Amino acid sequence: MEKEEYTRKADTSIVVALTGASGSMGREVLKQLLECDFISKIKLLLLNNAKEKAIFRRWKLRYGKRVKAIFGDIATYSDCQELVENADYLINMAAVIPPKSDHNHYAAYKANILGPKNLVDVLEKSSNPPKFIHISSVAVYGNRDYKHPWGRVGDPLIPSVFDVYAQQKMTAELFVIESSLDKWCILRQTAMLHNKMLSNNMKDGLMFHTALNSPLEWVTAKDSGLLIKNIIIKDYNNQANMLWKNIYNIGGLSKNRCTGYETFDDGFKIIGGSAEAFLSPEWHITRNFHGMWFSDSEILNDQFDFVKQTKEEYWQEILKNHWYYIIAKILPKRFIGYVGIKRLLKDENSPTHWINASDYSRVYACFGDEDKPTENWSDFKLFCKNQIANIDYQTSKNTPTTLSHGYDETKPDNELGIDDYRQAAKFRGGELLSAENDSGDLFTKATWKCSEGHTFNMTPFAILKGGHWCKECNKLNQWNYDKLAKTNKFLAEVWYDTHSTNENMYYYFEDEIARSKKIAE
Ligand SMILES: [Zn+2]
Repeated sequence: MEKEEYTRKADTSIVVALTGASGSMGREVLKQLLECDFISKIKLLLLNNAKEKAIFRRWKLRYGKRVKAIFGDIATYSDCQELVENADYLINMAAVIPPKSDHNHYAAYKANILGPKNLVDVLEKSSNPPKFIHISSVAVYGNRDYKHPWGRVGDPLIPSVFDVYAQQKMTAELFVIESSLDKWCILRQTAMLHNKMLSNNMKDGLMFHTALNSPLEWVTAKDSGLLIKNIIIKDYNNQANMLWKNIYNIGGLSKNRCTGYETFDDGFKIIGGSAEAFLSPEWHITRNFHGMWFSDSEILNDQFDFVKQTKEEYWQEILKNHWYYIIAKILPKRFIGYVGIKRLLKDENSPTHWINASDYSRVYACFGDEDKPTENWSDFKLFCKNQIANIDYQTSKNTPTTLSHGYDETKPDNELGIDDYRQAAKFRGGELLSAENDSGDLFTKATWKCSEGHTFNMTPFAILKGGHWCKECNKLNQWNYDKLAKTNKFLAEVWYDTHSTNENMYYYFEDEIARSKKIAE
């Protein structure tokens, strides 16, 4: 997209409000939005601490009056009110993500649940609310592997067991979808390559939560910033079609699709190593991660033309800009392996630690019934190296497949009606309770019953188009998919790729301790 394509139509200038501007995506969004001369001011909600104040002092020096900070907390309603006041656009990028969300559930709850709830409440009470872009996450889809590497918006939402972040992001989406607002969109962000990725990963056992055969579609932080900039430019010029009241996946297209193994291999190659030189397959979980290849990531890119960087270009940029990678390149590989990576196995967020500590619930959630994971690369079957029987990696990558959503998707939205809602409910093991004359359009709440007998109100949009379902079955801090998938074909499509029908576990947190118990068969 060339800048010249967009000329200002009016003399009006606009105000954009951002949360999460100090994060990896947020910094890029701020920087790139400030390149738009029609944006007169960017309001930022930053935490009231020394670190964020220091960041803002630097921005103030660089950007002057165009940036304004509100120091507070997204979990505080009045701070959200102040942020939103007089804004034309609100972009919510605030989140507490893994590993922090794994270590501090309450901090994550405040940012990921109370924050979006406050923002939606403030917008609903506003007489002239800003247009709202809410960033969600690929994590809401849960685990995928080579059996169903492809996914799209509308697929079942199955946050991985004990991933509080994913579950909170899923819950927060419903605040937005079911609000009375007209101008909102949800962008489910994929795995993002950013400046601090390698160094962040060297601090926590989280790196071993990446399953080696998981499909991943990367996008860079810079391209994510460009997406938001292009959305604002196009919408400002009334050229954005089909953006509002919808959900999209942000993805990096075919050039950025790979697996967990290939990501590690690419990352270690820049310092002269490889996945196999630095890692052992037994350190990594084999299921219960998240990530997929999006069969619909072209939709956003066709309209907003933002995917510019490849993962290879990203790694080269990292190598160029970070002195410690140059140093790492000349250090003995054994030194990096031991000092850099092996020490992380003792971290409380590391699967090896769970195994050694007999943390049965986590081990079972992440490995299932499989015997002790192999320590030899020669015994581990890699998807990307065509070692899985009857599955050709390149063919998989070139052949998007789709899951059934349980209703006739060829119908345009305005033709969907009660029969489609009934079919979708049945596919999910439940039923539609609303009678013929109660059923409205996709955004009018209907009454449903799930296979567990819970009655709930939800919009057909959230269910048919968003992949959501019973709130009671998806309550925070509990994961009951072994039971639910037995009656819910929509979940079963994915769940049984990495679980057996003989598994009968109910997983939950009790005072932040991961627990599980057998449920009746
Ligand atoms: Zn239910």
